[in-house]
Amino acid sequence: MTASVTVVDHPLVQHKLTLMRERDTPSAVFRQLLREISLLLAYEVLRDLEVTMKSIETPLAEMEAPVLRGKKLCFVSILRAGNGLLDGMLDLVPSARVGHVGLYRDPETLQPVEYYLKLPEGMEDREVVIVDPMLATGNSAVAAIQRLKEHGARGIRYVCLLAAPEGVAAMGEAHPDVQIFTAAIDSHLNDHGYIVPGLGDAGDRMYGTK
Ligand code: URA
Repeated sequence: MTASVTVVDHPLVQHKLTLMRERDTPSAVFRQLLREISLLLAYEVLRDLEVTMKSIETPLAEMEAPVLRGKKLCFVSILRAGNGLLDGMLDLVPSARVGHVGLYRDPETLQPVEYYLKLPEGMEDREVVIVDPMLATGNSAVAAIQRLKEHGARGIRYVCLLAAPEGVAAMGEAHPDVQIFTAAIDSHLNDHGYIVPGLGDAGDRMYGTK
């Protein structure tokens, strides 16, 4: 199965992504750019949210006006780098519920190991947007989405900043129902599972840990 992928090619997104890729961009600027891009990505990711009509009064007249329908959205961050994307999304949808999945990549096997999971109630009734800046091997994304599905989540969208073809393929295999949104699909993964040309380790670049 192939994954459904939307590359958000808005010039502002692409410009900010280029700045983030540059090796000398400081952590503070990197974090700010990630926050700005995530807001722009969220705009695209949420474009088909359902609305319902509500009666309101403007200062001049009564009218039927659209409001978002259904239970509050749920954003799920894959720790720790996911938090960088989460902040911009919450700027746009402050009332969204937030879940966290803690996974680290075993450096030898590159397989995900879960160390934390906290999700809001009623996942089965929410639109769920899972965020992690780098879709590399896809192992973490596949495992995180599996856990969300075990908790009843159905309408899941996955948002990243950069994707590798290998990660997109893995997602298509495991979760063809999940729509992927990214700012770019890069060339390939290197032997250490890093996206090339990529931007390096997103978590380290966000938090200055290397
Ligand atoms: N995680 C990162 O932070 N960067 C990569 O290139 C791949 C996975």
